[in-house]
Parts: sequence; C-alpha cells; structure tokens
Amino acid sequence: MCICIHCQYVDSCVTYHAIEGQHQQPHLTDHPIFEPQNPTINVNIRSSTEEIQIEWDVVGCDSFAQEQGKWAKLRPGELIPT
Ligand code: SF4
Repeated sequence: MCICIHCQYVDSCVTYHAIEGQHQQPHLTDHPIFEPQNPTINVNIRSSTEEIQIEWDVVGCDSFAQEQGKWAKLRPGELIPT
C-alpha cells in the first residue's frame, strides 16, 4: 500500500501526482508544488493471460509527515486507493 494516503503532503506532492497518473486516478491537485526527499517507489507487475497490471506504491520517503486518513478526508466516501 502507498504510504502517501496518510501523508499531509498528498494533495501537493509531485511524486504522488505521478503515482495517480500511473494508476489512472483523478488527481487531488492539477498543480503539485511539493518536491519530496528520497521517495522510494515499489513497482509490482502482475500478468495473466488477459492483461498486465502494474502497481506503483511509495513505500518510503524522507518527507513523509503522518496525517492519518488525509486522502480519505479529501475524498470522503470514495474507495481508498490500495
Ligand atoms: S510520503 Fe512522500 S511521496 Fe508520498 S505524499 Fe508524502 S511527501 Fe509525497
């Protein structure tokens, strides 16, 4: 799971913005301004006979600032990205 969903910078971060793009999710902001320090991205590739799924998750980041449920607060009622 991406740690960004519990980070206070999730709605301004350029890395999370790129992750949203990879997951084809709507962006929390169209103009991210926060440059995180040393984000570590885990890429999982799952393939079946019909499709290939690629999942991108931030698993570590020096700029992470915990704000539990930040993403859910911004998008109440929506399915939380995994
Ligand atoms: S954890 Fe790092 S990459 Fe993720 S939103 Fe926070 S600052 Fe950005």
